Amino acid sequence: MSDPETYDFVVLGGGSAGFAAATTAVQQGLRVAVIEGGEEVGGLCILRGCMPSKTLLESGHRAAQIRRAEEFGLKADFHGADGPEILDRKRRLIADFAGYRKQQLESGKFAFIRGRARFTDPHTLQVELQAGGEQTVRGRTFLLATGSEIRWVELPGLREAGVRTSDDVLDSDRIPKSVIILGAGPTGLEFASYYAGVGSEVTVIQRGAQILRGVDHDVSDALREALASRGILFFTKTVLKRIERTGELKRVVFEHEGVECSVDAEEIVYSLGRKPAIASLGLEHGGVEVTPHGSVVANGSQQTSTPHIFAAGDVCGPYEIVHIAIQQGEIAARNAARLLRGEAATLEEIDYRLKLFAVFTLPQVANVGLTLREATDLDLNVMEAVYPFNDHGKSMVRGETEGFVKLIVSIGDCKIVGAAVIGPEAAELIHEVVVAMRFGATAGELATTPHYHPTLSEIWQYPAEALACEFEARRKG
Ligand SMILES: Cc1cc2nc3c(=O)[nH]c(=O)nc-3n(C[C@H](O)[C@H](O)[C@H](O)COP(=O)(O)OP(=O)(O)OC[C@H]3O[C@@H](n4cnc5c(N)ncnc54)[C@H](O)[C@@H]3O)c2cc1C
Repeated sequence: MSDPETYDFVVLGGGSAGFAAATTAVQQGLRVAVIEGGEEVGGLCILRGCMPSKTLLESGHRAAQIRRAEEFGLKADFHGADGPEILDRKRRLIADFAGYRKQQLESGKFAFIRGRARFTDPHTLQVELQAGGEQTVRGRTFLLATGSEIRWVELPGLREAGVRTSDDVLDSDRIPKSVIILGAGPTGLEFASYYAGVGSEVTVIQRGAQILRGVDHDVSDALREALASRGILFFTKTVLKRIERTGELKRVVFEHEGVECSVDAEEIVYSLGRKPAIASLGLEHGGVEVTPHGSVVANGSQQTSTPHIFAAGDVCGPYEIVHIAIQQGEIAARNAARLLRGEAATLEEIDYRLKLFAVFTLPQVANVGLTLREATDLDLNVMEAVYPFNDHGKSMVRGETEGFVKLIVSIGDCKIVGAAVIGPEAAELIHEVVVAMRFGATAGELATTPHYHPTLSEIWQYPAEALACEFEARRKG
C-alpha cells in the first residue's frame, strides 16, 4: 500500500470557518485538504442557518407590512401566506447559494474529500469516504471546523410529541395555526417573528427572566414589548415539566411563578440551543481538550491543547456567529503557516473588540462591542446615551418608531466602546458604529460626521452629541 498523502493544512469541515481557512491557507502557499462529511455541501449558514431563516423572515415581515397598508393610505388586504411558495422560494435561493459554495470547494485550489474524519493520532486522520471505503490523510497542521448540532435536553414526552427543530422549520411548507417556541434566543425569536408575521398564534416559553440573554435588559425589554404588541405571548422564568399530546394538539406543561401552567398548539418548535459537533472526531487521539460543556478549548491564536491542531467556528465558540467563524478560520490558517515557517513566536490573536451580533426579528436588534452589562462586569468606567426612534423624523415617516439606539463610551477619552440598536434596520445601522469603533472614534467625532437628511443613520448623532457634551462638561469640571 502506498504512503498516505501528507498535507500542510487539513481542514475538517467545509462550512464558513473551514472554507475561509482553506482559502486563506492556499493564499499562504500551503498544500491544503478540506474534508467535508455532510450529505450536502454548504455548511450550516447556507443550508440550515442564516440564509434560509432570513429568507423565511423576509416573507413574514412583508406579510406584517401588508397588514399595515391602510396606515399608509394604501388599499391592500392580507389574504394569508402560501407555505409551499415560501418554501419553494427558500429552496431556490439556497440551492443557488449552496451550488456556488460547492463550486468554490471543488475549484481544485485544494483537495476536497467527501467523508467523515476522525483522528487516529495527532498527525493522522482516518476518513470514512462518502463514496465508500476509507482513506488515511496525514497533516502537518489541522483545523477543526466541524460546527455544531442540536442540543437535546431531557424532557418527558419531548421525542414522542414530535417537535420541530430549526432544520424542520426551515424545510416545512406547513404554516401552523398555533405554535409554541421553546427558547427565546436569537433563533427562537426569529422563528417567533416569522410565524407571527405569516399569521400563526405564537407563544414563547423561556427559562430565564430575560429574552435574548446576550443584550442589555433595556434592549431585551423593548424587544419583548414590540413582539408582544404583534400578538406574541411570552412566558419567562419558567421550568419545563413535560410535553403531551392532546388530540390534534401538542401541550407544553411548565411551571411559571410557582404555578403549573400549560399551553396547547399545533406545533412546538424546539430552540433550546446547539452544541459543538465533536462526537466522532477521535479528539482524544489528537490530544485535543474539550470543556465540560463539550466545546473544543482554543486560545486566542485558535490553537487547541495540541498546538498544531487549530479550531474555529461553532466547534470552539465563544460566539456562534458566521463572521467570527470566518475570522477565526482565517487567523488559524495564517497561524498554521507561521508555525510551518518556524515563526511560532509571531502568532496573531483574535480581537473581539468589534464583536457584532444581530437578530432579524421585527423590529431587529443589533449590538457591537460591549454591552453596558459587560462594561460594568469588566469594571470599566463608561457612560451611555440613548435616543428613541419615536423622536426621529425618518423613523416617523417610515412608521417604525419602536425602540432606540444607544452608544456607550469610555468616560476617560469619550471613545466608543459599544452600541446597540433595537428598531428599524438595526442590523444595517449598527455598521456605522462598527466603522467608527474600528478607527477609534470618539462620540464627538461621530456626532460631527456628515449624515444625509432624512435618514435613519442620522439618529446616531443625537446620543453622540449628548455624550460629547457630557464629556466636555466633565472635563471642564
Ligand atoms: C437557524 C439558524 C440561524 C442562524 N442565523 C445566523 C445569522 O443570522 N447570523 C450569524 O452570524 N449566524 C447565524 N447562525 C449561526 C451560524 O450559522 C453558525 O455560527 C456558523 O454557520 C458556524 O459555521 P462553522 O463553520 O463553525 O460550522 P458549519 O457551517 O456547521 O460547518 C461545519 C461543517 O463540518 C462538517 N462536519 C461535521 N462533522 C464532520 C466530520 N467528522 N468530518 C468532516 N466534516 C464534518 C459539517 O457537515 C459542516 O459542513 C444561525 C444558526 C442557525 C441554526
